[in-house]
Amino acid sequence: MLWIKIKYRLTILYKALFFKLGLGKLLLKNRYGEHILVFHGIDQKEETKYNSRFISEKYFENLIRYFTENYNVISLDDFYQKKFKKETLNIALTFDDGYLNNYKYAIPILKKYNIPACFYITPIHEKSDNLWPDFLDLVSFYSQKNKIFFEGENYMKNSRNEYTSNNVSLKNKCKTLPYDKIFPLYQIFEKEWNEIQLKPLVDYWSLMTSDQIKEIAYDPLFTIGSHGLTHSNLQQIDLNEAKLEIAKSKTVLENVCKQSIDEFAFPFGTYTNELVNYCKEIGFSKILLVDYNTQDDSKDITTRNRFVMNPYISMKQQISCLLKGSYF
Ligand SMILES: [Zn+2]
Repeated sequence: MLWIKIKYRLTILYKALFFKLGLGKLLLKNRYGEHILVFHGIDQKEETKYNSRFISEKYFENLIRYFTENYNVISLDDFYQKKFKKETLNIALTFDDGYLNNYKYAIPILKKYNIPACFYITPIHEKSDNLWPDFLDLVSFYSQKNKIFFEGENYMKNSRNEYTSNNVSLKNKCKTLPYDKIFPLYQIFEKEWNEIQLKPLVDYWSLMTSDQIKEIAYDPLFTIGSHGLTHSNLQQIDLNEAKLEIAKSKTVLENVCKQSIDEFAFPFGTYTNELVNYCKEIGFSKILLVDYNTQDDSKDITTRNRFVMNPYISMKQQISCLLKGSYF
């Protein structure tokens, strides 16, 4: 793990140096291939202090403009049908989580450049108006509590605004739990969350409404897919609960969109073959991951791996990593 971190930092440093020396063109030289990209939130400030998943509206527009001028951006359907152009990079865009900020900032830009995209929604709305990872990032940042007691353990706040117990972060702990067990955190941080809701931070947690999701589903440029019901880590929780998360999310979204939902993106990108098979059984035909668990898994025609965008590097560095297909 440490070596991977060092290798990543060295690669990013070397790329930054290349661009500084004016040699960046070499890194942006056209390489061919195809990638499905994963975006999360879009904000107006390029703020990464609350979480590591947001890029700014301005950056996003620059990136989309660059893509349309230099590469072939296609729908996920065309991507699955391998309608690729030769001698260029073929890209399909996906957005995970279903943030209101996607509707406010990303969609107008995508429409302006006529770029197709898929939105993977966590339709938790009945239980909550936010996703637990965003809630946890924000309360961890703002809370004055040095220590909390959760799931039988004491979690101490560190200098990186994370709560940890025996070197396990609270977020990683939550990734092993079903939603009902995560929910007590909302009581623990009730005061903080009430204060956060009064701050101009709505872009960092607010989700799209059912009407907005439906509107997107009916736009010929876009598709709606599922991202699990509560953003639980499906690989880690009980198998039957994981199956219920997948099936319920499909039913809820089909009721919202009044059309069949056949795309599924695993929360956190973590999956098992059993869950992939279950997705297929209940009618998902496009199943999106991040990394394949094994090389063998890449032979499955319903699954695709995806390249997650990184908000901590410059746009040119991002593009050079994309062309290489790796941050290393
Ligand atoms: Zn997600």
